Amino acid sequence: LSDRLTETLRNLRTKGKLTAADVDGTVREIRRALLDADVALPVVKEFTAKVRERALGDEVNRALNPAQQVVQIVNDELVGILGGQQRRLQMAKTAPTVIMLAGLQGSGKTTFAGKLAKMLEKDGHTPLLVACDLQRPNAVNQLQVVAERAGAAVYAPEPGNGVGDPVRVARDGVEVARRQQHDVVIIDTAGRLGVDAELMKQASDIRRATDPDEVLFVIDAMIGQDAVNTAKAFQDGVDFTGVVLSKLDGDARGGAALSVASVTGRPIIFASTGEGLEDVEAFHPDRMASRILDLGDILTLIEQAQQAFDEAEAMKVAEKLATEQFTLEDFLEQMQQLKKMGSMKKMLGMLPGMGSMKQQLEDFDEREIDRTEAIIRSMTPGERRNPKVLNGSRRLRIARGSGMTVTDVNQLVQRFDQAAKMMKTVARGGVPSIPGMGPV
Ligand code: GDP
Ligand code: MG
Repeated sequence: LSDRLTETLRNLRTKGKLTAADVDGTVREIRRALLDADVALPVVKEFTAKVRERALGDEVNRALNPAQQVVQIVNDELVGILGGQQRRLQMAKTAPTVIMLAGLQGSGKTTFAGKLAKMLEKDGHTPLLVACDLQRPNAVNQLQVVAERAGAAVYAPEPGNGVGDPVRVARDGVEVARRQQHDVVIIDTAGRLGVDAELMKQASDIRRATDPDEVLFVIDAMIGQDAVNTAKAFQDGVDFTGVVLSKLDGDARGGAALSVASVTGRPIIFASTGEGLEDVEAFHPDRMASRILDLGDILTLIEQAQQAFDEAEAMKVAEKLATEQFTLEDFLEQMQQLKKMGSMKKMLGMLPGMGSMKQQLEDFDEREIDRTEAIIRSMTPGERRNPKVLNGSRRLRIARGSGMTVTDVNQLVQRFDQAAKMMKTVARGGVPSIPGMGPV
């Protein structure tokens, strides 16, 4: 999705006044890009029709820069489909809040249950996880492991005591939460590899028995065209109040996000981005849209880099991106190039996914580069190539050598790790989350 769409819009950006043919050509490209990204056909049709209508309308004609206006329209429409505003979890007026998870087997429900518990705990809640997947032999145990990692309590049926009735377990779980003063109940349910009637009935029975405040449909972002049918089946069978998009760390590019949001009209509330319990974030429609639109701008970044310093250097950066090898030496080189190019802020603004981080960019201190440089210069070539060897005594030596503190050194290593991760993601054609800039 991203590459094609960005490419198309980038070509358009260089144009002044737009003809109907320009608009049609662009709409055709958008259509193809969306289909390539496995966005469902009806969704694509609706999207392109809206963009076309608006692009041919007055707002574009009157715009100072018509091409830019079209880009804006595409962005608006994307944000609109993705739900507009960020949507928070609905909490019950009287505790406990009941949150039920539904979705196919392997979609990431149990993992997300742990992630959600952890997020809620950070906010001062005391969640209880309820194990209602009695289908797979190991599912209860898996939830117990996840809960332990999240430091959350679990309610699971005693072996041999009413095992086999997930509806009863769910109901009992809510009762236990009420008695033990857990203010949130997270109900993990069973899934099948494909949609089937028995699964739907079970999920819908659990829903009826527990009257949840939220029913979250967890869907694997990699599912492709099946996203629409699966989402519709769950909407008809159980109905849900929100969506969790999982495995966004993979190759998936947002096609499923567009399809599910558009077809069901339900908001995406969380994005799951890895197997670790920390790998989850609130879903921001505007950020997703700008990620979808921004990604190809890494090319612009490299192009501009080519003008500012010699081409060989730029090739090296591009090569590093491609081979996924990124060392502290590269980090230093990039810092120096950034400095040469004058505006750090502008450069960072061009990195994919940074559109919504303007405020943070404003806060960014350019002297940071000088400090970073000093620290890296105090490292041996071996340390720069392999920062893993940086133990306590080496860090102390580097801090002394550069006139910084050990904390400064630690922070740099941490930032480097984040940047390296981002480079890997970009190189794989994915979307980086938060490039080495600290928390959002
Ligand atoms: P469930 O059957 O719906 O409960 O799915 P699980 O929570 O058991 O997840 C299935 C597999 O997907 C497990 O191997 C998880 O580690 C993995 N998984 C879950 N969420 C994510 C994610 O966001 N990213 C990645 N890469 N893997 C995930
Ligand atoms: Mg599970």
